[in-house]
Amino acid sequence: MSDAGPLVLLVEDEPQMRRFLRASLTSHGYRLVEAGTCAEAIAAATSHNPEMILLDLGLPDGDGLDLTKQIREWSSVPIIVLSARGREEDKVAALDAGADDYVTKPFGANELLARMRVAQRHAAQSTDEPAAVVEAGALKMDFARREVFVDGRQVHLTPIEFRLLALLTRHAGKVLTHRSILKEVWGPNAQSQTHYLRVYMAQLRRKLEADPARPKILMTEPGVGYRLTAP
Ligand code: CA
Repeated sequence: MSDAGPLVLLVEDEPQMRRFLRASLTSHGYRLVEAGTCAEAIAAATSHNPEMILLDLGLPDGDGLDLTKQIREWSSVPIIVLSARGREEDKVAALDAGADDYVTKPFGANELLARMRVAQRHAAQSTDEPAAVVEAGALKMDFARREVFVDGRQVHLTPIEFRLLALLTRHAGKVLTHRSILKEVWGPNAQSQTHYLRVYMAQLRRKLEADPARPKILMTEPGVGYRLTAP
C-alpha cells in the first residue's frame, strides 16, 4: 500500500476501538495520526494538518463537541463524529457545532469508509468552482439553467423548492440539520420554523419520488434533518 493516502487524525480514547479503526483505515490506504485526549488532538491537528478528523465525543479531558467548535475557529477540515450517544439532540448538537457527519457506535467499517468518501468529496468540491450540473442517483440538477430532472423527466419546481433541493444536492450524502437548512433557505429568522421544512419536503417528494412514502432521493434523518442520497 502506498504511503501517500489521505492523512486522518483519529481522536479516540478506547484502545479496542482504536485498534479496529487503525486496522480498517490503514488497510484502505489511509495514513493515521492518533490522539486519545482533546489536548493531544489539538496538538496533532495543528502540527500534522490532517485531511480529515474522526472524533470520539467522550474524551477523558473534555468533550468532542467543544473540540469541534475550537477546530472550526481556524479549520474547515472534514470532521466525522464517532459517537456512542445515539440521541437525536446529540447528533444535532454535533452537526451544529460544525461536524460534517456522525456515525453512531457500533458501526461497520464499510459504513464509516463510505461516509469518509462523501466528506472527502465535499472537501475537494468546496475548493473548486461549484459544478454547473450535479447528478445524484436518479436526480440531475442543472444549476446554470435552473432545471431539474428525475430519470430524464423534467420536474418543475417553485423558487423555494429549487433552493431547498439545490442546498441538499450541493451537500449530497451529507446530513443537514433542520436548523441549518432553514437558515440557508429561509434566512436566520426562520431557524425554528420546522413546519416550513416539513411542508416543502413533502411537496418535493411528491414531485421527485416514485413513492413519496418510501423516499429514495430525499432521506429523513429522524429528529436531525435530511440527507440527499449520495451519487
Ligand atoms: Ca470515549
